[in-house]
Amino acid sequence: MSKLKKYQMYIDGQWVDAENNKTFETLNPENNEPWAVVPEASAKDTDKAVKAAQKAFEGEWPKLLPKERAKFLRAIGDQLRENAEMLGEIETIDTGKLFRETKKQAIYIAEYYDYYAGLADKVEGTVLPIDKPNIQAITTRIPIGVVAAIIPWNSQMFLTATKLAPALAMGNTVVIKSSELAPAVLFEFAKLIEKTGIPKGVVNVITGFGDPCGKTLTTHDLVEKIAFTGGPETARHIIKNSAENLSEVSLELGGKSPVAVFDDAEQENAINGITAGIFGASGQSCIAGSRLYIQKGIYDEFLNKLSERASKIKIGAPMDPETEMGPLSNFKQLETIEKNIKETIDQGGKIKCGGERHSFSNKGYYFPPTIIECDNHNLPVAENELFGPVLSVMKFDTEEEVISKMNDNQYGLSSGVYTSSLSRGMRVSKAIRAGITFVNTYRLISPSAPFGGIKDSGYGKEAGIDSIKDYTRVKTTWFYTSDEPSLDPFSIR
Ligand code: NAD
Repeated sequence: MSKLKKYQMYIDGQWVDAENNKTFETLNPENNEPWAVVPEASAKDTDKAVKAAQKAFEGEWPKLLPKERAKFLRAIGDQLRENAEMLGEIETIDTGKLFRETKKQAIYIAEYYDYYAGLADKVEGTVLPIDKPNIQAITTRIPIGVVAAIIPWNSQMFLTATKLAPALAMGNTVVIKSSELAPAVLFEFAKLIEKTGIPKGVVNVITGFGDPCGKTLTTHDLVEKIAFTGGPETARHIIKNSAENLSEVSLELGGKSPVAVFDDAEQENAINGITAGIFGASGQSCIAGSRLYIQKGIYDEFLNKLSERASKIKIGAPMDPETEMGPLSNFKQLETIEKNIKETIDQGGKIKCGGERHSFSNKGYYFPPTIIECDNHNLPVAENELFGPVLSVMKFDTEEEVISKMNDNQYGLSSGVYTSSLSRGMRVSKAIRAGITFVNTYRLISPSAPFGGIKDSGYGKEAGIDSIKDYTRVKTTWFYTSDEPSLDPFSIR
């Protein structure tokens, strides 16, 4: 076997191993073989990273003019554009996500840094219409302090940008914890951040397991905000952990996003959108449109066309530019998907296409596009987040019925509606309880579009103009404007 690539963590501007020299191997999902070795942060390493971030927060960084911090953000964006090929390749090797997507995404993610660079000097305070004589009161926005950014293994560049860029723009310092399942790309990213000359300790990148690394980070006294993306179970730990340090928490969690296709939908467009929504990135997207409701009049015809399209998806090596679906990211994913499919078939679910491990490679984690017809959406594949290329399909009759079915799930992240009727598109999108609704399209992101869910999909929005304020606190300052001594010290005024 070829020699493993070796990574180090980035703490306080230094490249370091774990203090106890512990490491773990990260696997290439294409062949299930280790390709890199990564330090496993101990509690001590994590503490060191947080203290470095705190020291940097007490230093020059928050005192820089916003436009000076913005220059670093733009420089990070430039680094992303210049190194998109390398970043894309590393992310693809580590996660199995297609190179055609990871490379393009690295370039596009640069725009998030540009966007927040542009916002850095647009956040204003207020002068309060205060109800007291001889008093002037103002509010300003101040940085929060050390931010812990906890990242899952999918879409890491995107999910890091939506936390790191606004945090830096507003003068915070950051400890990024990458996922132990695919940590490499964020270390490569840290090398690029270092090249911008950003003061040491402002950005630190570590990785390790939930315990001790994640736990130490999210309970640490000096951490003031936890920006978390991941699963709901981990989120429950995070919230409990934040009771220790009373830090603010934002949560971007999972989804089981419903999509409705009405009889009057433009079918080719709907098929493309649904395919992008559930088979793009092998369905390993938090906004995957995994519950599909098709109206009665077109049910058979539409389902046949959709299955035909799904069966033609080209499965292959993730670096191959022709490949449309690569492997799943890890073995746990494969097992979860197989278990849910088996239970669904036992309860009457019917496989329309796919359903079993793909023969493309027995060594990697390949699973084909799978469509399962379900009598009701309480079958396991239709109810649980699978994070894979599995689409559950149900039939509906009326608009009212489908709205109620779409809303009948614990999650509320994304959703989709396909119809030629503008008024129906407006009505249904308004009625869906989700943070995002796509009408006649699917799977779009933008720095200016708020991203995040409701219900068990979490709280707090990432991206969009308001998100920058989430990395600040309001400070009220009172000025006494009279030259006369103030009155009665024993009564609040
Ligand atoms: P996960 O919850 O297992 O892990 C996420 C991160 O949390 C990892 O870095 C992990 O090491 C860390 N972690 C684990 N235990 C911890 C603890 N006790 N304290 C602190 N940190 C801890 O999630 P995953 O399997 O990596 O990612 C998949 C999940 O992420 C899915 O549920 C998916 O829907 C969700 N996700 C959501 C979004 C979104 O924006 N809403 C985007 C992508 C993924």
